[in-house]
Amino acid sequence: MLATTSTLTVARTVDELRAAVDAAKSAGLSVGFVPTMGALHEGHQTLVREAAKDHAAVVISIFVNPSQFNDASDLENYPRTEAADFERAAAAGATIAFAPSCDEIYPAGFATTISAGAVAEQLEGAHRPGHFDGMATVVARLLGLVRADVAYFGRKDAQQLAVIEQFVRDLVIPTRIQGVETVREADGLAMSSRNMRLAQADRQRALALSRGLFAAQRLADGGEHSARALETAVQVELDAAALPTDYATLVDAATFLPVDVLDRECVLAVAAHVGPVRLIDNIRLAPASV
Ligand code: AMP
Repeated sequence: MLATTSTLTVARTVDELRAAVDAAKSAGLSVGFVPTMGALHEGHQTLVREAAKDHAAVVISIFVNPSQFNDASDLENYPRTEAADFERAAAAGATIAFAPSCDEIYPAGFATTISAGAVAEQLEGAHRPGHFDGMATVVARLLGLVRADVAYFGRKDAQQLAVIEQFVRDLVIPTRIQGVETVREADGLAMSSRNMRLAQADRQRALALSRGLFAAQRLADGGEHSARALETAVQVELDAAALPTDYATLVDAATFLPVDVLDRECVLAVAAHVGPVRLIDNIRLAPASV
């Protein structure tokens, strides 16, 4: 049975999702899709609003995918706020929420893993073994189930977006992939479900990530081209806040391979530990026009 909260149809099983998507499609509605792991915040709601601008049917999935967690305590402590998620999804314009059990996503006999190649090897790929394979596999399955016209992903997870663009292109998956700008708190902190696990003092220290990225942005706008100088601008802030750093690295925006010089569209990406919480952030940088 499909449960309905206000305008939101909640599907718990693959069959219920199929029925809901089929109903939308046979009514001639175009379908937008926003995959999430729940604990919804304004960043997720922005993706849903973007989808709702262009599609009468908007599917949001809420599934904490075990296979993309390389750290058992990160998975165990990942926030779960389903009732509030349904409210927020509906308020932002979602019409269908897919909130499946693990067995629905990984039924007996499930055996395939997607591996996206070089773009998945640096940065997050190097620090979280198996993460991108797990993410790509579940996103491919979700794209196949939802059959959306367009799926929306945040640039907050820039490398994730690049990995998805790679396998969607390679496997000729017929859903268009749309990136959406990072949504930040007023003080600059990139919104993240993990932020709710930050202790009050750590919440302040977490600002070092965005502060460092914005400092690098100002340097790049002023003509700085050296990757070392831009990365150091981030590292200085992380060190000042005593945050252990996994990386603060300038990479090519398409390949995610490290670069020495900002001579094309790049991403300056950072990952650091704030107490027990690991946070990531990034900005896009292009050479200053002369
Ligand atoms: P998650 O629930 O963390 O897996 O994120 C689900 C989707 O929301 C992904 O496409 C993320 O990139 C996106 N997202 C998460 N945080 C933000 C943010 N602060 N701004 C924009 N998109 C975001």
